Amino acid sequence: MSVDRDNWAGTVRYRAPRIVAPGTLAEAQRLVASSSKVRALGTRHSFNRLPDTEGVLLHLGELPADPVIDTGAMTVTVGGGTRYGVLARHLEERGLALHNLGSLPHISVAGAISTGTHGSGDRLGSLSSAVRGLQFIGPSGDLVDVRAGDPGFEGMVVGLGAFGPITRVTLAVQPSYRMRQDAYLNLPWQRLMDDLDGVTGAAYSVSLLTTWTAPAIQHVWVKSLLDQPIVTAEQLGAAPALRETPDNMNPFGVEGPWCACLPHFRLDRVPSLGAEIQTEYLLPRDRAVEALGTLREIGRLIDPVLEISELRTVAADGLWLSPAFGRDSLAIHFTFRRDPDGVAQVLPVIEARLLPLGARPHWGKLFDAGADALGPLYPRMDDWRDLQRAYDPEGKFGNRFIERHVTGPRSG
Ligand SMILES: Cc1cc2nc3c(=O)[nH]c(=O)nc-3n(C[C@H](O)[C@H](O)[C@H](O)COP(=O)(O)OP(=O)(O)OC[C@H]3O[C@@H](n4cnc5c(N)ncnc54)[C@H](O)[C@@H]3O)c2cc1C
Repeated sequence: MSVDRDNWAGTVRYRAPRIVAPGTLAEAQRLVASSSKVRALGTRHSFNRLPDTEGVLLHLGELPADPVIDTGAMTVTVGGGTRYGVLARHLEERGLALHNLGSLPHISVAGAISTGTHGSGDRLGSLSSAVRGLQFIGPSGDLVDVRAGDPGFEGMVVGLGAFGPITRVTLAVQPSYRMRQDAYLNLPWQRLMDDLDGVTGAAYSVSLLTTWTAPAIQHVWVKSLLDQPIVTAEQLGAAPALRETPDNMNPFGVEGPWCACLPHFRLDRVPSLGAEIQTEYLLPRDRAVEALGTLREIGRLIDPVLEISELRTVAADGLWLSPAFGRDSLAIHFTFRRDPDGVAQVLPVIEARLLPLGARPHWGKLFDAGADALGPLYPRMDDWRDLQRAYDPEGKFGNRFIERHVTGPRSG
């Protein structure tokens, strides 16, 4: 099978001399053992050079998903290249569920958890926070199994692909649940700034979509559990939505299983816009209102290159490189136009405002900050660097992106 050389949005062309989709695990292990530089490639939905390598790029999407449910432990173990939408359908058919999903079900499980991908929900950790075990192909080509509680496990989950290709992922599951998704319009900015907690805590999962010069938050997507009261537009201080659900989105105003309500986009349609660049920063909740205020001050700079921003919440976790490590967070996302020059001008301005407030960038999206600026934002960063170096002393699974943004140049 040939694998596309460009990322999903067409904004990055991978430079790896070889991109291979092995048909068997043994073939994948042989490729890792015999190559000096290897990285894994998921469904190519990231927006930077994090996946890239000067050697072999391995896409594991051709290996079987083979989901194995353990009802005693309440876990499922699945092939790392499996897409969330495929896994979600399998679980729902068996009365099971995940705690949350990202906005799109098209991404691979291993690719998503490796970057700290998240949905929204004040009490919901990132998708990575559900990981209970991982199987990697280690530098020698042998399989390496790690489980929650093992030394270093919390460093390996949001691993940026730097511990080798993940072949199997074990995730926590729970009984299936039903939800309803409602869309409201025009939430006044002042209402949000006065009571951010009240708005984002109004339902199981709340997403707010806006530009920065708009007089109000344009869309509020409220995903509610059916066994809890559903907040109305009036209670929230917004207006009810009048429009139809776009064709590529899960329907509004309709009850359904968790997997048909949590992702914004449908697995059988093209998600989002396509011609776009995405960026996102996770802010500690206690600096969130300040962060929104400072971005509104530079809204005239941001909006000419912006399609839409999305505000979501993520609960704290203990994963060393997770952007939500140790703190409940507000995630501020930007879907920019596919205008690399325009975005390159505005990114440093946004970072100059947000990094001093403790913003940590999403590892899978476009950002500018280097290792010097990001290191101090992660209390376990030195432990992660030590762990990765001990695991992969030859630097087989590293790349220039990780050196620039995470570790600094490797010496010796
Ligand atoms: C339309 C769209 C919507 C999005 N919505 C969200 C969202 O709601 N929330 C959010 O947080 N992010 C979102 N993202 C970003 C996306 O979820 C992340 O970039 C995610 O990492 C992409 O997963 P992937 O399978 O495409 O991985 P890739 O982009 O292929 O790779 C990303 C990283 O994962 C590593 N990796 C991939 N497969 C493996 C493997 N088998 N073993 C080890 N490492 C591996 C790669 O080496 C690389 O470091 C969105 C992106 C798009 C395009």
